[in-house]
Amino acid sequence: MGQGKTTAIVTGGARGIGAAIARRLACDGMAVGVVDLTKEACAATVAAITGAGGSAVAVGADVADEAAVARAVGTVTEVLGPPTVLVNNAGIIRDNLLFKMDVADWDAVVAVHLRGAFLMSKAVQGHMVDARFGRIVNLSSTSALGNRGQANYAAAKAGLQGFTKTLAIELGRYGVTVNAIAPGFIETDMTAATAERMGVDFDELKKLAVERIPVGRAGQPEDIAHAAAFLASPGAGFVSGQVIYVAGGPAA
Ligand code: NAP
Repeated sequence: MGQGKTTAIVTGGARGIGAAIARRLACDGMAVGVVDLTKEACAATVAAITGAGGSAVAVGADVADEAAVARAVGTVTEVLGPPTVLVNNAGIIRDNLLFKMDVADWDAVVAVHLRGAFLMSKAVQGHMVDARFGRIVNLSSTSALGNRGQANYAAAKAGLQGFTKTLAIELGRYGVTVNAIAPGFIETDMTAATAERMGVDFDELKKLAVERIPVGRAGQPEDIAHAAAFLASPGAGFVSGQVIYVAGGPAA
């Protein structure tokens, strides 16, 4: 199953941006390992892909757990073939002002974003080096530039940019490119959770966000999927170590 196709892994593929990226890569002809905390959570994304004639497998794994990551990459390799595209998208927020942020909230955010991307990239890179081809796409954020209430998240997302540039330098000689996408305001459960935390209606938060977005609308998961599809494509082989802000305007 899936042999001859490029195999991709998308973490956090159960919903939001990850689900849109998984569906888009499948549309572009890739077999997709959809990884999220539970296998059950990935079912809808996998059904959307297979229902449209594509190949996908659901895999439950916490990306911050080394053994679970090894098992997940093993399953995808067995079922779909060795992965040569990896999208590190899994993410959480635990927002609070510094004086109220507890250590557990710091550790959880850094673990999912940074340790998760590190473990996944380390587990998959051998397949990419063997194939002399690979594409790693990391999900950063405009919050990497600083955002009130997000010291943990901003630090992790800025850290991912340094991680991206370093892997690009190390892996370039093997035909592997490594880039980051830094989305602005995208309509997902994550931004809905932000509205809830702030005690404002989601539509109100969206309205406030859109007022500051030059293209005059909120981003959709498909906007990010489009950028990811480009970076994951064979033709993007001379683009590496870049951070692409997909925010409806300049980010800074
Ligand atoms: P989302 O709707 O909350 O989806 C994130 C997915 O990741 C969820 O299915 C979540 O599972 C999963 N996940 C969380 N921790 C995980 C772990 N340890 N292992 C495996 N999967 C895990 O978020 P989103 O808005 O689509 O965001 C996707 C990525 O884009 C994140 O990295 C986020 O930081 C980044 N981003 C989003 C925005 C935005 O405006 N939405 C802006 C900039 C950057 P559970 O549902 O079970 O937690």
